[in-house]
Amino acid sequence: MGSSKLGTDERPLWVAIIGAGPAAYFTAEALFKQEELNVRVDMFNRLPTPYGLVRDGVAPDHQSIKAVTRKFEKISHDPRFRYFGNVTIGEDIHRDDLLEIYDQVVYAVGTPADKQMGIPGEDLEGSHSATEFVWWYNGHPDFTDCEFDLSAERAVVVGIGNVALDVARILASSPEALGTTDIADHALEALRSSRVREIVVLGRRGPAQAAFTSVELKEFGQLEGAGVAVDPADLELDEESKRLVEEQRAVRRNCELLEGYASGGAPSDGGRTVEFRFLVSPVEMIGDEAGRLEAVRIERNRLTKMEDGSMRPRGTGEYDEIEAGLVFRSIGYRGVPLPDVPFHDRWGIIPNEAGRVVDEDGTRYPREYVSGWCKRGPSGVIGTNKPDAAETAAAMIEDAASIAGELPEGRSAKAVEELLVERCVDYVTFEDWEMLDEFELSRGEAEGRPRVKVCHVDEMLEVIHAGRARRDAAAEPERSVGVAD
Ligand code: NAP
Repeated sequence: MGSSKLGTDERPLWVAIIGAGPAAYFTAEALFKQEELNVRVDMFNRLPTPYGLVRDGVAPDHQSIKAVTRKFEKISHDPRFRYFGNVTIGEDIHRDDLLEIYDQVVYAVGTPADKQMGIPGEDLEGSHSATEFVWWYNGHPDFTDCEFDLSAERAVVVGIGNVALDVARILASSPEALGTTDIADHALEALRSSRVREIVVLGRRGPAQAAFTSVELKEFGQLEGAGVAVDPADLELDEESKRLVEEQRAVRRNCELLEGYASGGAPSDGGRTVEFRFLVSPVEMIGDEAGRLEAVRIERNRLTKMEDGSMRPRGTGEYDEIEAGLVFRSIGYRGVPLPDVPFHDRWGIIPNEAGRVVDEDGTRYPREYVSGWCKRGPSGVIGTNKPDAAETAAAMIEDAASIAGELPEGRSAKAVEELLVERCVDYVTFEDWEMLDEFELSRGEAEGRPRVKVCHVDEMLEVIHAGRARRDAAAEPERSVGVAD
């Protein structure tokens, strides 16, 4: 065991960050910005491609949100940073390996699974999680080969958060508009022949309790070839909701936009329609004999004020059916446990105290930390992860003093590379990713699109291997000249 002080030039504080989305990058940024300690960051990611939900979650028609990747690129070029893509924790490298090689480990793995509704028929053919659809149209390699039968005329989207709006908007958008984005080619092709004409978005509570934001709601008024329908009766508010409208600008703005849509009447130009319905909960998905979804049975709700002041939906016993061949359940994400790392099953997160990992009894897991959605749950926009990551980074810096001397001396910067090579892991560096990035961008340029994504891991690796070979061949003559000289 060594006794050098951690965080010096001779013995930097070595940090592994697991995940490469916004929470991971904001944690790296916060660690680099502090001036107390010399910190080195190695970032590990399961996919070869970095940026997490910015690449695979943010809607393809929201390119301006993706501009945050320029900041992440800058962090990646910091000499204190290294990227190891295509490395799966628990398979290629284990928690114990990381704790042996690094002083501190941060989990920033997000919340990749979706919540279940727990109603009969949820798994019928035609009933999908919105998460899968989002990953599919964004070209996430795990979902590229999923199939969505878009031959039904009516689709139901359950939930009124921003993901529900993304799904509804993509279904309602014209193929021409989608064709100018970086939507995955397979999704573009399927959406070109989509027969979906009506998209019904269901909120279990009222418009004043909607989780979506007004910027996203407003976009429906600007969709080419699509209109919005809202029943004015759905916008009649109870006293408590009226109070919310008065007190909260964001709620007021949502309600004003919905009123505007309601007063516009039903769109009649033969295009697609997005209908918003409030105070209804799906209670059953009804299928035909072959197990294909045919309809969604819904129950009308009323709101009840709870002790904590929140308004919860309660069924009224009034039922109705919506004929639909497609359902997208968009009721929120949830975390997935990492091997050997504590997990709070009910909350779907890694239990922690201000970013310090603890088990369910509150016992600390020294040197292990958490950032982002797997720390606090799937809420907020990309920027919300910045203060969240800063809190984790502050805890790490504070704790660094108490771990000095506990770790092996002479830690080699090459330790992890050697381990990955020994285990035959074809890891992807940031330079490798930049070759793939360049490839996608140039394919996009040829088609007048921001990029054309490569959507299978083996194809990504082929592009990277070809790029490495070109780079090495270009370096070769120089080397030979050097030798001859
Ligand atoms: P979300 O904002 O938490 O919304 C989930 C929705 O599902 C809520 O309307 C919720 O209703 C509803 N819901 C939950 N359980 C339900 C059930 N059993 N039956 C019916 N409805 C149910 O989650 P999200 O849409 O997945 O978004 C996750 C985060 O990413 C959010 O912070 C979101 O703002 C963010 N995001 C942002 C953007 C953007 O900025 N453009 C895009 C996508 C996502 P209750 O309110 O009644 O629980």
